[in-house]
Amino acid sequence: MEVSDNLRVLINDPQLLPELKDIAEKVLHNQRISFDEGVLLYEKAELGYLGVLANYIREQKHGDKTYFNRNFHIEPTNLCVYDCKFCSYSRLLKQRADGWEYTMEEMLDIVKKYDDQPVTEVHIVGGVLPQYDVPFYSELFSRIKAHRPDLHVKALTPVEYHYIFKKAKIDYATGMKMMKDAGLESIPGGGAEIFHPEVRDLIAKDKCTGDQWLAIHEEWHKLGMRSNATMLYGHIEKYWHRVDHMEQLRQLQDRTGGFQTFIPLKFRNQDNQMSNVPESTVVEDLRNYAIARIYLDNFDHIKAYWAMISRTTAQLSLNFGVDDIDGTLDDTTKIYSMAGAEEQHPAMSTKELVELIQHIGRHPIERDTLYNVVTNYKDFQFEETAKPSYYKLPVIN
Ligand code: SF4
Repeated sequence: MEVSDNLRVLINDPQLLPELKDIAEKVLHNQRISFDEGVLLYEKAELGYLGVLANYIREQKHGDKTYFNRNFHIEPTNLCVYDCKFCSYSRLLKQRADGWEYTMEEMLDIVKKYDDQPVTEVHIVGGVLPQYDVPFYSELFSRIKAHRPDLHVKALTPVEYHYIFKKAKIDYATGMKMMKDAGLESIPGGGAEIFHPEVRDLIAKDKCTGDQWLAIHEEWHKLGMRSNATMLYGHIEKYWHRVDHMEQLRQLQDRTGGFQTFIPLKFRNQDNQMSNVPESTVVEDLRNYAIARIYLDNFDHIKAYWAMISRTTAQLSLNFGVDDIDGTLDDTTKIYSMAGAEEQHPAMSTKELVELIQHIGRHPIERDTLYNVVTNYKDFQFEETAKPSYYKLPVIN
């Protein structure tokens, strides 16, 4: 059965609420859904319905293709001048003994560890501290590029950029141009949390506002560069805050086209100031991926971080609008494990990632940061796992 047949069967279901039928018709005809319809999906749509719509869009855009990349992270520090309530990662300055603060040379040593490995991206994010400023990051980016020109530098979020530009007394446009000239090639999606101040002021009060986050991405896009976007969901926000967040991203994307990927981030409640807030269920996680796929019609990709939601949920998400499950990571990030994610030492070999995708009948593609194909793994079998199609029986004389 074609994926569009599933959608038509759904539309013809006499039990379906008329307003959900209208949304399904819009999806079938490639039309954008409204803010109110986004909220309605969160309030009324069941998982099965959302899966049919989201998978239809996913397969229209990408067929079975499922992307991953080979990357590693550098987290310069886990100390931070801010105090976000959901953050399990930051050790405030007073807990400095539990923290790390890498020097420039230590960070370059991490890069050099990968010299003989076919990684394509270094992802740099961490806490905010005064010594990591515009001159520091400019030098870091340019030295990474000088050492290994083929390694894509994806680094820092508007939280860091807002802080370091303010300190340097330069505007966003000037600052982003300086970063680009130093070797920065794209910016990751972090720091977005929930844009609406009603929520943001309660969970992430002092760092950049939602408008500032969007303005920094806009300046970056104006330079012809690409970035990602995230949303931290499943805590104290209401459904309409999520839709408001995605609406603002959709509007910016209409203006610039600079976003590549939207990444919903599940709130985890371990070891932070919001440990009393229960976590969302897997069903809610899958509903959220699906609604993001339906709402963000002008985003090419929806990504699930396997390290944050577990390998099994990442596999499931591939039927709910997700087409990218991030990278090999090589146990270089502590951000998810410190928040209580199932993966405490997140690392997957390329073979494991490929097989994870193949096991649910999707088509693995290793991509670079900008979604150029590095290796197409369609029908590829790693030699050591090639299984015989029959097994010899013991010979009995
Ligand atoms: S979420 Fe980021 S900005 Fe907020 S306290 Fe944690 S490391 Fe700092």
